[in-house]
Amino acid sequence: MTFADHPQNQKKWSAIDSSTLYGLDRWGTRYFSINSYGNISVSPKGPTEHGLDLMDLVKELEGRNLMLPLLIRFDDILEDRLISLHMAFKNSIDEYNYKGEYQGVFPIKCNQKRHVVEELISCGRHWNLGLEAGSKAELLIALSLIDNDKALLVCNGYKDERYIETAILARQLGRQPIVVIEQTDEVDRIIKASQELGSAPIIGIRAKLSSKGSGRWKSTIGEKSKFGLTIPEIIQTIEKLKKHQLLNELKLLHFHIGSQVSDIAILKDALQEAGQIYVALNKLGAPMGYLDVGGGLGVDYDGSSTNNEASTNYSLQNYANDVVATIGECCESNNIKVPTLVSESGRAIASHFSILLFNILGTSENKNEIPKATKDECLPVRNLRETLKNIQKLKVLSKIDYSKIQEAWNDAIKFKEDALNAFRLGYLTLPERALAEQLTLACTESLFNLIPNNELLPEEFKKLQSALSITYYANLSVFRSAPDTWAINQLFPIMPIHRLNEKPTKFGHFADLTCDSDGKLSQFINHGGTKSLLELHEFKANENYVIGMFLIGAYQEVMGNLHNLFGSTNAVHIRLTENGNYKIDHVVRGNSKSDVLMAMEHDPKLLLERLRIASEVAIQKGSLKISDAQRLMDHLENSLRQSTYLHQ
Ligand SMILES: *Cc1c(COP(=O)(O)O)cnc(C)c1O
Repeated sequence: MTFADHPQNQKKWSAIDSSTLYGLDRWGTRYFSINSYGNISVSPKGPTEHGLDLMDLVKELEGRNLMLPLLIRFDDILEDRLISLHMAFKNSIDEYNYKGEYQGVFPIKCNQKRHVVEELISCGRHWNLGLEAGSKAELLIALSLIDNDKALLVCNGYKDERYIETAILARQLGRQPIVVIEQTDEVDRIIKASQELGSAPIIGIRAKLSSKGSGRWKSTIGEKSKFGLTIPEIIQTIEKLKKHQLLNELKLLHFHIGSQVSDIAILKDALQEAGQIYVALNKLGAPMGYLDVGGGLGVDYDGSSTNNEASTNYSLQNYANDVVATIGECCESNNIKVPTLVSESGRAIASHFSILLFNILGTSENKNEIPKATKDECLPVRNLRETLKNIQKLKVLSKIDYSKIQEAWNDAIKFKEDALNAFRLGYLTLPERALAEQLTLACTESLFNLIPNNELLPEEFKKLQSALSITYYANLSVFRSAPDTWAINQLFPIMPIHRLNEKPTKFGHFADLTCDSDGKLSQFINHGGTKSLLELHEFKANENYVIGMFLIGAYQEVMGNLHNLFGSTNAVHIRLTENGNYKIDHVVRGNSKSDVLMAMEHDPKLLLERLRIASEVAIQKGSLKISDAQRLMDHLENSLRQSTYLHQ
């Protein structure tokens, strides 16, 4: 009896099992589920009867010569996230009878791509969604894309005089730029620029809160943080503004407690502290009007609803409730008009709408049959054959006898060691060593098949599982497309997008196309924890096996780099149409090899010309035929125009 025959495993595998296994039922929220074909179905506007079949979409995109790896952006999801955020604040404002409004800004640094920012401006117009800029280049984007005079333009980051002057002049264009003082010396530059131009910007102050942070970005908050003014600095700044008749322009208090705040308790503390500062600024004579709670609204990447780094122990609604209730209470008990609440939620808006899809090029699995025993086989090989035979005699019991499994596993490991030692000393041939390794693997596999429920694997037997693990070669560069998995071990949900009615029988991890040993995906979400191997299906050589990485719309694209000269992937923007179908709004072609070479200051034409000269020399010498030289040049020329990824 094998693993699959065991009574506990006979129940037919279904989409529901896949959904639980990969956590899709939890992180997939309103947008992702599995349809009756066992494919991932996307409902960009929330649950409907007919979602888009992601696998069908891939086939149709491939038909348009848009090959994997591919980034698919569902603009309807982006819009839906905006709606959800605004509805959450609206609900809280109604529930707590808050006498003010909510007005968001999107932090451009989260995803600067043109179509993304344009899309947000267009579908955020309804709520006067503004933008937050953290540099002069981002300010330029914000200035030229915001065409709504009610939308805010929050100016953060280091600011020189030109930055401040630009903001002041933009105010005269009718925009609403708010220059947030984040360093004490910025106030002097604001004063100088205002005097020179005879006009002032709207001013904000970023406070350094003393509340403790948590999680990965905990140093963003507290006295040691990079940005913001301490309380004494705030007092000095107020004095200076007053002295230069600018206090009237101080309208906003800002704080930012780091990205992906996992624990709501941290936010509550920060809100109470900021509320008190807001009240105090009012009392010091500043007109105020806005309280900007920064970013930090988290995404539940692993679906566990906990305070670990890949999750959040609160919902969108909890977040809005805390902001509205805390600030409302603080102002009311001090008889101060409540502020317009601003948040700079980037991750929470932009994560869900983007899916990275990549195909598998092959695996490390060795499927060769074990050769029959011959007469004079060496001792370690004979021992391994014997061990395998004994294992095959073991029966699956409803209560498994782990000591038997342990014993056989110890034997197999011991005999494999013997074989390796003998090889080192010259007593074992290369084919004999190959045979020993094959037999060890067969022992491991047979042992593993005796364990009925691999979910409950005791620690010791995890080794069996990892000995069976397979590398899946992914047509992807993690450095380009998912840099945070490498840089900060961030977890994103990863799973096959099809064959989900079929039990995944393999354990694998992914190696990417770069020749960097860090270029891999080997940490996966696991119901609030992590695991180093993912359940995957057997790879079939002539069939596409497509893996999706989800919730990656925030930060990944701009942080990605050109390691090994793998460039951007193709990206498409999809919108649902009225009849439930879809249309492709934009196609953004990925980098060609020519593009990435030029980014490194190489001239592709010059590179080709050098090769042409080299091939002429080889033709003269008679080592290269003219037709082959032409073939070589054709390959190179075509290749330059094509994507940096592999096509089969
Ligand atoms: C990065 C950043 C944000 C965005 O944070 P998210 O966690 O993505 O919402 C907002 N405000 C400031 C000042 C930032 O630096």
